[in-house]
Amino acid sequence: AAAPLLVVNGIEVIYNHVILVLKGVSLSVPRESIVAILGGNGAGKTTTLRAISNLLKGERGEVTKGSIELEGERIEALTPSDLVKRGVVQVMEGRHCFAHLTIEENLLTGSYTRTNKGEIAANLDKVYNYFPRLKTRRTSQAAYTSGGEQQMCAIGRALMSNPRLVLLDEPSMGLAPQIVEEVFNIVQDLNQKEKVTFVLAEQNTHMALKYADYGYIMESGRIMMDGAAKDLANNEDVKEFYLGMG
Ligand code: ATP
Repeated sequence: AAAPLLVVNGIEVIYNHVILVLKGVSLSVPRESIVAILGGNGAGKTTTLRAISNLLKGERGEVTKGSIELEGERIEALTPSDLVKRGVVQVMEGRHCFAHLTIEENLLTGSYTRTNKGEIAANLDKVYNYFPRLKTRRTSQAAYTSGGEQQMCAIGRALMSNPRLVLLDEPSMGLAPQIVEEVFNIVQDLNQKEKVTFVLAEQNTHMALKYADYGYIMESGRIMMDGAAKDLANNEDVKEFYLGMG
């Protein structure tokens, strides 16, 4: 098999110099796959994504052990914007659109690492093609759009950097099941047609396993179980402990 796109190797993360939150987390993300990180509140999913995208510093967190490799190269020392240039971008939990900007202005903020105007325009068209709702709402202020549209805007903005790897934190949060399906269908489409790799952190185990290829289940800062998504979905322990959640 081809070498994985991303390998996380036994990372430990400590917040505020004392709170050990990740206790040796390892993950392997194949190229062009969708990998789900599952688990309840506080399991360490967000921390894992932040470690990969180097967004821990603002939270007073740091990786104190282990390594993170993109295509075999260590990336722990790269800044978040270097990572964007290397094709790694994170969509934060809670969507974080700029409320006072229009949908289109929000999308354009995602192209800040790029300069070629023609490419940016083509990329914007592509985003509108995948998210027709955003095109309809392009001149609306984000604050006045729905939760689903804001989630789509946050993903669309990430796509404006032309990424290879998108880290999606809790995309289903606060959305009606039908909208969650709509968002996940677009993620699947992007994965299949644009070859974008996704790592998604989700409490909604059922939905995530329906769309992911592979899943990791976290508890208290450790991976408790991992496997092909369809095996996890049929696993009795997973059904009992996780499939009721989210
Ligand atoms: P959620 O779905 O609630 O975001 P999660 O699985 O993403 O859960 P994390 O947000 O990674 O979990 O949190 C893991 C643990 O780290 C929790 O116990 C949390 O309280 C702690 N934690 C998170 N951020 C910080 C921080 N900035 N300082 C100290 N502890 C933190």
